[in-house]
Amino acid sequence: MDIDDPTLRIAPAEGADRDALADLLVETVAGNGSVGFMHPLGLGEARAFWDDALEAVVRGERIVLCAWRDGELLATGSLALVSAPSQPHRAELTKVMTTTAARGSGIGAQLVRALEQAARERGRRLITLDVSLVEGATAFYRRLGYSVAGDIPEYAHKPLGGLGATRVLWKLLDAREPVATAVVDPAVDERFMRHALSLAERAENEDDEIPVGAVLVSPAGEVIGEGWNRNITEHDPTAHAEIMAMRQGGKRLGNHRLVGCTLYVTLEPCAMCAMALVHARVARLVYGAGDSKTGACGSVSDLVSDPRHNHRVQVQGGVLGEESGRRLTNYFRSKRGKPPL
Ligand SMILES: [Zn+2]
Repeated sequence: MDIDDPTLRIAPAEGADRDALADLLVETVAGNGSVGFMHPLGLGEARAFWDDALEAVVRGERIVLCAWRDGELLATGSLALVSAPSQPHRAELTKVMTTTAARGSGIGAQLVRALEQAARERGRRLITLDVSLVEGATAFYRRLGYSVAGDIPEYAHKPLGGLGATRVLWKLLDAREPVATAVVDPAVDERFMRHALSLAERAENEDDEIPVGAVLVSPAGEVIGEGWNRNITEHDPTAHAEIMAMRQGGKRLGNHRLVGCTLYVTLEPCAMCAMALVHARVARLVYGAGDSKTGACGSVSDLVSDPRHNHRVQVQGGVLGEESGRRLTNYFRSKRGKPPL
C-alpha cells in the first residue's frame, strides 16, 4: 500500500467511535487474537471496555488512535501512559488490532508510527509491549525497530483455549543521537582515508603486519593520532590500528575522551575497537572496506549504533573501500604465494 494513501485517515478515538472499536475487539478475540479477553466476548463487555478506555483518554492516561477509510474502522492501537513516577518516559503499546481485510496492507505499520509520534509529543520515548508468540508478530515489530527483551512461557490463555507464551519487546524512540551538523565533505574524507592507506602500507612494508591503517582527526581537522596494526611486533593482542591511533590521540589531548573526533580506518572495526570508539566518545567513524567476518559497525554486529550504549558513533563506510579491500586481499594472497589481483 502507498504510504501516502490519501484515503486513509489516522485520528484520535472519540466517544462516538466506541461501537466500531467494540466490533473490532469482538472480531479480534473471535480470531484468537491475544488482547486480554476470552472467546466468546459479548458486545456489551467489549463496549464497557472501550467506555473505560476512552474515559482514560480524557483523563490523559491513555492514547487511542484509529485508522479509517471511507468511514470504516480498519485498525486501532493504544498507548497506556505509565503512571509510575519513576517512569515518566515510558508508554506501553497495547490493543493493536487490525481487521482481517486490512492485514498485510501496511496500515498496521502506519498506525504504530503514528502512535510513536503521539508518544514523543507526550514526552514518552521508551515504548514497551508484549506480543503472543503464537501470532508471530515479532517480525512486524522488528521491522519497525523494536528489540526483543525475551520470552515468557505460559503467559496467558489464548482466547480459544490453551496457554500461550509471550514475547516482550521495546524501542527507545530517537535513541540514535542526531547526526552532527559538522560539514561532512567527501573530498576531506577521501584525503584522510588516503593517509590511513599510507599507514596500512607501512604496516605491511615495515612490520609485515596485516595492512590496516587508522588516522584520528580532531574536531578542528588536525591529525592527532596515527596507527597501523602492530600485534606481532609489539606482542600485543590489542594493538589494532584504531587502538594505536586512539592511544596517540588521547596522549596528545591529555584526555581519555576523544570528543568530537573522527576516526578514519581502512577496514571496518572489530568489536574491541568499536567499543573503544564508544568509550572514547568518538563522534564519527569513517571506514574503507567492510568486514563480513568480524566487522562490528554494521556487518556482523552494530556496536557503535546500539541504543543501549550511552554513546553512539556516526558511521560512514565504503570510503576508498575497494582499494582498502584489495590491499588486504593481496596481502593474504602474497602470503599464500599467489599473484596480486
Ligand atoms: Zn580491532
